[in-house]
Amino acid sequence: MKEMWRQNYKSTPDQPSTQNSKLRALTYTEKRKAELAFRFIALHVFFSKELSFSYRLSTLVVMAAFPNNTLRSFKPLSPNSSTVRNSVLARNSVSQVPSSTGAVSVKEKRSFPGKPEADVVVIGSGIGGLCCAGLLARYQQDVLVVESHDLPGGAAHSFDIKGFKFDSGPSLFSGFQSKGPQANPLGQVLDALGETISCASYDSWMVYLPEGEFLSRIGPTEFYKDLEKYASANAVREWKKLLDAILPLSAAAMALPPLSIRGDLGVLSTAAARYAPSLLKSFVQMGPQGALGATKLLRPFSEIIDSLELKDPFIRNWVDLLAFLLAGVKSNGILSAEMIYMFAEWYKPGCCLEYPLHGSGAIVDALVRGLKKFGGRMSLGSHVEKIVVENGRATGVKLRSGQFIRAKKAVVSNASMWDTLNLLPKEVVPKSYLDRTKTTPQCESFMHLHLGFDAEDVRKDLGIHHIVVNDWDRGVDADQNVVLISVPSVLSPDLAPPGKHVLHAYLPGTEPFDLWKGFDRKSSAYKELKAERSEVMWRAVERAVGPGFSREKCEVKLVGSPLTHQRFLRRNRGTYGPAIQAGKDSFPGHSTSIPQLYCCGDSTFPGIGVPAVAASGAIVANSLVSVSQHSELLDAIGI
Ligand SMILES: Cc1cc2nc3c(=O)[nH]c(=O)nc-3n(C[C@H](O)[C@H](O)[C@H](O)COP(=O)(O)OP(=O)(O)OC[C@H]3O[C@@H](n4cnc5c(N)ncnc54)[C@H](O)[C@@H]3O)c2cc1C
Repeated sequence: MKEMWRQNYKSTPDQPSTQNSKLRALTYTEKRKAELAFRFIALHVFFSKELSFSYRLSTLVVMAAFPNNTLRSFKPLSPNSSTVRNSVLARNSVSQVPSSTGAVSVKEKRSFPGKPEADVVVIGSGIGGLCCAGLLARYQQDVLVVESHDLPGGAAHSFDIKGFKFDSGPSLFSGFQSKGPQANPLGQVLDALGETISCASYDSWMVYLPEGEFLSRIGPTEFYKDLEKYASANAVREWKKLLDAILPLSAAAMALPPLSIRGDLGVLSTAAARYAPSLLKSFVQMGPQGALGATKLLRPFSEIIDSLELKDPFIRNWVDLLAFLLAGVKSNGILSAEMIYMFAEWYKPGCCLEYPLHGSGAIVDALVRGLKKFGGRMSLGSHVEKIVVENGRATGVKLRSGQFIRAKKAVVSNASMWDTLNLLPKEVVPKSYLDRTKTTPQCESFMHLHLGFDAEDVRKDLGIHHIVVNDWDRGVDADQNVVLISVPSVLSPDLAPPGKHVLHAYLPGTEPFDLWKGFDRKSSAYKELKAERSEVMWRAVERAVGPGFSREKCEVKLVGSPLTHQRFLRRNRGTYGPAIQAGKDSFPGHSTSIPQLYCCGDSTFPGIGVPAVAASGAIVANSLVSVSQHSELLDAIGI
């Protein structure tokens, strides 16, 4: 086992300069074997019906060499010659850069800075939109982000109430490293923008299962002890069998840095050729069996579980829970690559989880700072009402105020696929685009509970994350069944006034929107429904925080429904995102059938989650510039 871990570590991408010498260190036979394995996988993928996954984050290996039908119609933008750009501090002055205190509290005036035109207009400042815009600015494009909300960050924004600073959404980030085995696309974008975020590390979360409560620790050995105690000896055996089978595959999944991916044939140069040595090496290390196994990366994870004949109910439930938390679908719907990527992050020696000090808003702050540093502009409170299409091409956006903003080269929508469709004039939408959007199943919505309370009376060993599963038999995707709780002030005390805590509990994409549709938010019926549907979260919080916690004593109590989620995050039906089942369908690519209109964010490949949307934004930005600009950036950030 230890040997396997070592091999995984060794196979991570190195600096380009050392890669060549590593390639030379391989024997001829090894190289030949690796090439054969590579070709085999590539062929398998090429003839597989999963082609549209082909530049999926974690299966970059094969995808980079064999681009598919999603790799089309990207036209590189030339660096803007009309606007002279300072590569470090450009147009917007430093005074406009939000301070790094967490939530971006700077309220910008509701008209955009500069002229009503840009090379690229990005609709929405979610993590996907900000990563795309920041990189485009770094590539010296004139970029303008138009955001409907008065705070940037979309699902990841932070907000302040009575001195408490709340995360509106994500709080589980794995790590923010840009290099090495835990490389995160978001970390790579931040590197490119010359930004860093300070983090607190931790290694566990509390789980409250029907079998009992325990502190679940990440890392290779600790979870075995939990399994032994709370599940069975058989569960331990099956877990080992699973890790032994899938961890070797992660070497290939991680051999290419996500930032090297672009949506056209240039990927052969920026990814396949550039990282060939580390790819070949990973194939050699995987051996023929591992290489064959790599083809499974493109299939639902449940197929791997079934092929290993894993039947232990605890293992199957646990894997379903992890899949659901990761992608909003169970193990029969998640792509194996995604799960393997996560397993490699969580169950290897030396791994840790990181939470950004000052909350999720600190990530948004850093991206906004990076965008502005390279001359990018952002306009908050600028709701896009229409994407303007002239002569069949997307040429700009019309704001709710009536203002038209011309996009000289491209419009990128970071809104969900359903929201993007609603922005397009009906007559210009091709039927295939309409059908695809309308038939894509949606994840359900959220209930939220944001609380601010006194830390004095509650347990001192309170951890940041808690997961409550009420009933395995109902399934982890059943409504009112799984509650996630985050108390980030235990790691970042500045999120609450001294001696207090902030807490966010939510039902993760399991609250049916239809239950709430049509309610008047001011009516007593709405308030009653909120009280009824939030009760499960209150009970979970009482269990997690312990006996000293009192509902009545909370200084801030905010209950959010799917209508709240829809309203504040500007998301169609308050959805978590597309409920796309691996093996049956795939996330759409980033170009659209309307020339000059591109999409990024969680409605596009590689899917839902902060690292995934960062990758999607980067792929769009990379695809819109030339291969040489893209390669220069990879050189500059040393990956
Ligand atoms: C409660 C919750 C918890 C989560 N937890 C985690 C987690 O722990 N870890 C993790 O990795 N992921 C987590 N996720 C998922 C992750 O947060 C999202 O997948 C990701 O942040 C989505 O980013 P995005 O860029 O695709 O879009 P969004 O964040 O939805 O941003 C889209 C932006 O576009 C703007 N917009 C939309 N329409 C318009 C318009 N017409 N005009 C102008 N602007 C517009 C919106 O206002 C918004 O700011 C969580 C999500 C939620 C909701």
